[in-house]
Amino acid sequence: MTEKTKIDTLQDSGDRRDPLELLYHISRELALALDLRTVLERVLRLSLENVGGNNGSIIVVDGNGKPVDSVIVLKDKVIEETTQQLQFTLDQGLAGWVASNLQAALVRDTSQDKRWQMAPNGQATQDKPKSVVSAPLLVRDELVGVMTLTHPEPNHLDETHLELIQTVAGQAAIAVLNARLYGESQRQAGAMAAIAASAAVIGASLDIQKVLDTILEQTTTALNVEAVSLALVDDRKKNIVFRAATGSQSKNILGLSIAIGQGVAGWVAENGESVIVPEAQKDKRFYASVDQNTGYLTTAIAAAPIRSNGMLIGVLEAINPQGGSFDEADLTVIEGIGNLAGTAIEHAQLFEQVEVAQRRYRELFEDSVDPILITDWEGHISETNRQAELLSGFDEDTLKQMNIHTLHKPDWKVLGNELENLKSGETVSYESSLMGRGGSEIFVEIYARSIEVEGQELVQWILRDITERKNLDNLREDLASMIYHDLRSPLANVVSGLDVLEMMLPLDEDPTIRSVLDIAMRSTERVQRLASSLLDTSRMEAGQSIGKPEPVAVTDLVKEAIHAILPSAQAKEVKLETAVVKGLPKALVDAEMIKRVLINLTENAVKYSKEGMTITIGAKRDDNWLEMWVQDQGRGIPKEEQERIFEKFARVQAGASGNTKGLGLGLAYCKLAVEGHGGRIWVKSEKDKGSRFSFTVPVA
Ligand code: ADP
Repeated sequence: MTEKTKIDTLQDSGDRRDPLELLYHISRELALALDLRTVLERVLRLSLENVGGNNGSIIVVDGNGKPVDSVIVLKDKVIEETTQQLQFTLDQGLAGWVASNLQAALVRDTSQDKRWQMAPNGQATQDKPKSVVSAPLLVRDELVGVMTLTHPEPNHLDETHLELIQTVAGQAAIAVLNARLYGESQRQAGAMAAIAASAAVIGASLDIQKVLDTILEQTTTALNVEAVSLALVDDRKKNIVFRAATGSQSKNILGLSIAIGQGVAGWVAENGESVIVPEAQKDKRFYASVDQNTGYLTTAIAAAPIRSNGMLIGVLEAINPQGGSFDEADLTVIEGIGNLAGTAIEHAQLFEQVEVAQRRYRELFEDSVDPILITDWEGHISETNRQAELLSGFDEDTLKQMNIHTLHKPDWKVLGNELENLKSGETVSYESSLMGRGGSEIFVEIYARSIEVEGQELVQWILRDITERKNLDNLREDLASMIYHDLRSPLANVVSGLDVLEMMLPLDEDPTIRSVLDIAMRSTERVQRLASSLLDTSRMEAGQSIGKPEPVAVTDLVKEAIHAILPSAQAKEVKLETAVVKGLPKALVDAEMIKRVLINLTENAVKYSKEGMTITIGAKRDDNWLEMWVQDQGRGIPKEEQERIFEKFARVQAGASGNTKGLGLGLAYCKLAVEGHGGRIWVKSEKDKGSRFSFTVPVA
């Protein structure tokens, strides 16, 4: 039957009010979109008026068929019924039949219809007979309610009324649907508003404890719950640890560590999903031990993961809502806050790490045994540590008003123009002196490099106090010059004395006298050589050139060197051999100096050789140069030491057994002497495989 014919039929029944008018009124009521109860009450009253009925009801049910709301009119009065009573009505009675069959029903005479006879409270049967129509409120075949109208007389209500109530029920269903959608969107809007409100405050602090407290506060207000707790996944990702909690049990919960997978929070951490647990005590996932220990009763739980950058870092849990249960909107809220919490916690944790790192850096800086200054690229001092203050004698404030370049003598050669050598990121070092308080001069070794502090390019200057080392060097220099000056004149007397003795004594007749005199003369020669080398060294260091070079036969130089060394070589049972190429040209040298070079090298070779080893002294021509060398089979020199040994006072530490006495002056002299002739000196050696010292001098 079409809508049109239905209405025609209704119009036919003379004594009734115009059904078209009724539908018109009803659609107006719907358009006014008042709250659901008011709409349903008006719909019910209009319908009762129209059919002349006395009682009527509309019961609204949820998706599970459970009654959630109702409007009941009994003789003009609106009756309130509890959901329990409604449930009873729905389970039995005519409305129940309509709800379960999803069909409209007409009962002309209630005393004659079984469906009415099994009506509520067993009273129905004692009622006076009457007529009833009832129809389901359907939205796309889903039941959202049941509408019932009764008339005090049997056989008053008929098929036309049945059809009318079906049409009205259709309209009322739309009103219920609208109300549901509206309620849903209201709840969603509420959830969004709660999340937005939380967003505004949760991210406002960088202090981790404050952030956690704010999260709890927001969750408590947004969800209106008794208690909230927050757990974070631990470093090993095996447990979650409760880091914040509110409510009466917060003390028992703080610090509690539970395995991922254990309890509702552990379940959320494991599955990465939010969850509502409506009846915690009956849920297998519920971790009951806290309740058991404290006597607290957890009823319902809503929990959501806390995520940061897509990673689950914790769980947010809300317990015991004031309203008794959580709904989907609550889940949306706790999920939303969980997401906000992740970012806020991550930020606070990062901030905490940065702060810790900064504190550590500051401590390291302060506690460093080296004095350290930090400056900008113009040299203005911005940071100082305790040691720098101690060394310079200036306090922090004074230092911060100074410039590093006036505090010490910068070595611009090493630093480069405008510190350009530092800009490449290298560490440069040089020796300098620091102008301390009261004009004191402190020897320092400077290590400078560029550093980045909080995105700013700065320069770090480490000033190592080398006063002691400098003093030691000076002492050695003084000692060397003292030995030289105080030895020269007495030595000259010894030499001339020995010469006189040699002439006066009958040496040929007494070999003992001869050998004693020989020892005395050789030893004196050694001391003389040492004194001369010291003199030459200090002269050449002062920039003076060598004495007048003359042509000298290489073989003579070698012979004289062997003559000087032979006794000590023999004493040590070391063999001396020569490998001088025949027919070499003469060398253009200060013979005295080069002879001493050769003797020095050979003396060292003997010193570092063992019994039975051989030392070779050789010479060959190389273009315009004569190359001479001394080769031994001794302990050798490690690669990293091979350049250093030519420096003054440089000695190789050879361990207790192989340690030989010396000052570390011999090779420094050789280098100065050879380079003074325009030649060069070098060593080829490997540890335990002997050494070969070579040098060149010009051909005459
Ligand atoms: P000194 O011999 O007085 O220590 P030198 O300047 O002559 O000083 O030598 C410096 C260092 O070089 C020595 O201490 C020694 O460790 C090493 N050295 C020199 N010659 C040899 C060599 N032939 N074999 C091994 N080590 C050597």
